[in-house]
Amino acid sequence: MDAMEKAKNIITSGKVVRAVLWIAGALVVVAIAVVLWSVLRGRSAGDAGTADFVTETIAPVDNKTTVIDVVAGDTLSKILSANGVGGKDINSIAGVLKSKAGITGLRADKDKIEIVRDGGPDTPITKIVVLPGPWRRVELTCDDAGVWNCNAIDIERDTRLVYRQGEILDGDSFYLAGMRANIPAGILADVYDLLAFEMDFERDVRAGQKFSVLYEENYHDNVHVDNGAVSVVSFDALRGNVKMYRFKKSDKTVGYYDPNGNGAIKSLKRTPINNAKVTSSFSTRRKHPVLGFTRAHKGVDFRAPTGTPIPSAGAGRVVARGYNRGHGNFVRIRHNGSFETLYAHMSKFAKNVKVGTTVKQGQIIGYSGSTGLSTGPHLHYEIIKDGKHVNPMTVKLPAINNLDAENKKKFLEYRATLDKAIEDLENNPKGFIQL
Ligand SMILES: [Zn+2]
Repeated sequence: MDAMEKAKNIITSGKVVRAVLWIAGALVVVAIAVVLWSVLRGRSAGDAGTADFVTETIAPVDNKTTVIDVVAGDTLSKILSANGVGGKDINSIAGVLKSKAGITGLRADKDKIEIVRDGGPDTPITKIVVLPGPWRRVELTCDDAGVWNCNAIDIERDTRLVYRQGEILDGDSFYLAGMRANIPAGILADVYDLLAFEMDFERDVRAGQKFSVLYEENYHDNVHVDNGAVSVVSFDALRGNVKMYRFKKSDKTVGYYDPNGNGAIKSLKRTPINNAKVTSSFSTRRKHPVLGFTRAHKGVDFRAPTGTPIPSAGAGRVVARGYNRGHGNFVRIRHNGSFETLYAHMSKFAKNVKVGTTVKQGQIIGYSGSTGLSTGPHLHYEIIKDGKHVNPMTVKLPAINNLDAENKKKFLEYRATLDKAIEDLENNPKGFIQL
C-alpha cells in the first residue's frame, strides 16, 4: 500500500470522520459560548485577558458536570450520598480510590469532586472524578457488572522560573515589600520560612535592604495554574547577604543550601510561628509584667492571637505536656543532639500530641493563649541547650541535611546554572526560563 492510499484509508475510516465531526462540533459550541460571553460582558472577544494571570480550573464545566469544592467537615461518603450515590457504591469507590490511586481521604480547601451526568441533570451518574489538586484527575466509572474502576490521569504541566526583586522601604515590613515586588503570598510565606532559619526579622531588617526570589510558576495550556517551589532566595540582611538554593540530592531528597553547599535548614526554627512579631526578647534581667519584680526572661515572646496554631520548631519527641503556674499550658520537646524547646501559655494542646509523641518540624503541637502568668495572648518560646536556656534569636543552630563530597560537587554545578538564570532574568525582569 503506498502512502497516498494509506492516507485515503485513514481519511475515509469512519472512526476518524466521527472524531473530526465531534471535534468540529465541540469547537462550534465553544465559539458560540465565547461570543455569547463577550456580548453579555459588553466587550469584544479581542480585549479579553488583560489580567497578568488568570487562575482557572482545568476540568471542563458544563451542564453535565457538577463541581464540588471539598470544605472542612466534608467526607467522600457525605458528598457522594448527597449526590444520590448508594452506600454499597460509596464503599466500593472508597476501596478502589485507596487501592488504585492511594487516596484515603479528602482534603478540605484543596480537593474537588466532579459528578458527571452525560444525559444532563437528573440522569444517572456516568462518572465521578476526584481532583486532588490541579495536576491529577482520578476518574471513577462503573461498568455493567456494577464494579467501579479507577483511572488516574496526570495533567500536563509546564514549569517556568521567574525572578522578582524587592526593597525594604521606611516603615515597611518584609511582607509589604514582597507584595509590592509582585511575589505571591504563598511564595512569600515559603521565603519567610526559609529566611527565618538565618535571620531575625525584628533586628535584621532595615530600610534600603534588597531581596530577590527565583521561583516556579506552573502552567497548563499557557494558563497560570499555581506556583511551585522557591529555587533561590537572597536577602541583604544587616549581618550580610543570606542566600539559599534549592537542590535535590542523588537520593532525591530536597533541601536548601548556602552558596558553599552548607545545609541552610536548621534543626530548629528561631521563630516557630511565621511572621510573628517579637514582643519581648530574651534577657537575663527584666521586670516581669505580672510579678512586678525583676527576673530573667528565659525565652522570646511572640505576638499571637488566641488560637494561633503553634508548630514545633524542629523534629523531636514530646517530653512534657502539662500546666504550671508560670507557663500555663506548655509543651516541651526534646530534639536531636542537645536541644530542647518549650512553648508556653497555650489555650489548648493539639489532639494526638502527648508525652512520647514524635513530632516533625512544623507539626502543630498546640494553640496560643494566655494561660499561666501572662498579660495577654502570646507564645512564650524557650530553647534549652545542654540544660541551659539560650537566646533563640542568636544561638548557633545545627544544620540538617548536609551534603557529602559527591553531592556537593553536583550542587556547585547546579548553583552555577541557577546563578546564570538569575543573571538572564535580571536583564529581562518580565521574562521566564522554561524548565
Ligand atoms: Zn515570655
